[in-house]
Amino acid sequence: MPGFELFGEAEREQVNHVLESGVLMRYGFDGMRNGHWKAKALEEALAKRLQVGHAQLVSSGTSALTVALASAGIGAGDEVIMPTFTFVASFESILALGAVPVLVDVDDTLTLDPHAVKEAITERTKVIMPVHMCGSMADLRALKHICEEHQLLLLEDACQAIGGTFEGKPLGTYGDLGCFSFDYVKTITCGEGGAVVTDHEQYKRHADHYSDHGHDHVGNDRGAETHPFLGYNYRISELNAAVGLAQLERLDDFLAIQKKNYSTLRSALEGVKGVSFRRVPEGGEESYAFLNFFMPDADTARKTQEALTSKGIDGCFYWYDNNWHYYRKWHHLTQLKSLGRLPQAVYDQLPDYGKADFSKSDHWVGRTISCLIKLGWTDEEVNSRALRMREIIGAVS
Ligand SMILES: *Cc1c(COP(=O)(O)O)cnc(C)c1O
Repeated sequence: MPGFELFGEAEREQVNHVLESGVLMRYGFDGMRNGHWKAKALEEALAKRLQVGHAQLVSSGTSALTVALASAGIGAGDEVIMPTFTFVASFESILALGAVPVLVDVDDTLTLDPHAVKEAITERTKVIMPVHMCGSMADLRALKHICEEHQLLLLEDACQAIGGTFEGKPLGTYGDLGCFSFDYVKTITCGEGGAVVTDHEQYKRHADHYSDHGHDHVGNDRGAETHPFLGYNYRISELNAAVGLAQLERLDDFLAIQKKNYSTLRSALEGVKGVSFRRVPEGGEESYAFLNFFMPDADTARKTQEALTSKGIDGCFYWYDNNWHYYRKWHHLTQLKSLGRLPQAVYDQLPDYGKADFSKSDHWVGRTISCLIKLGWTDEEVNSRALRMREIIGAVS
């Protein structure tokens, strides 16, 4: 997945344009910037590549989620349905607005289980937020159907799956809003950065204003602009956007490398006793950022991951025991350990996760191993890795 592996001349050249003018900010300073508008150019290129009406760049994937929710009018006491298996950014972005994260089981797609989503809907539910973890997607057709039935928004977290598609549409553009991260370890990187994409004119305008203190961006005198509503500062800098501009040009090459490396590893594991693969919903094509597979039970999966790591196969994760990606270790959320008081709605409405039954998630995530697909491997490295993995896994199960 990581685009940083292939950081080079194109990235340096883009950054140098910014360094030469010294205009590090994305807005204003028109006369000084030698015609370079890196954030604006990246927004246009991203919208074009993803075949979507609008892209709003922001400072991170986490802020993209917050800005997306805020743009759609989500606030105190609104409930947002999110999966038990994701990154902590999902609930951080929800809590940042005083909204309430409602955790819901994942299934063998390792993303939201549509049946469990239906059961979690209340009169306060406003958004369903699937997270396309580790390169593959949620059953977007089923989730969209539920959203239409209950008049909810579909917000896709596509931070780990840029380049994947569902029914021919790029992930992140199937729902009402989509979010991407360009942090240092994502498929393409800005160093730090993120984006909100949408076809809705009003959400785009809200995202544009909200991510820059409410600035309406009318005219060419920032000080004279008006502020139709409250905002915050989630701006990206020109330096970060410049890196992203070079990386986006290379996205299709990166995806082709990912697919090739993934396919080699996957064919080596086909038929190994005890190994089965994560289900990709019908109509979906993965981004191939990770190879995800199941072992017969949690014990075997844990042992397999340990064997892989101890025998030098790096980048294979056992998420079930991970502090950041699975609900079992999210004590700071479940016990609401915040530095200051949170909005009252969060105390009143947060489900009692001490009593929640997520055994269905445990069943799947407990058996899962995810192996990062790197871009920098040589063919020889991939081939020998494939053989080693087959041997090691075969010996455990
Ligand atoms: C990386 C990531 C984020 C957050 O992105 P940052 O840019 O690091 O803030 C959100 N969701 C998922 C699924 C991610 O992998």
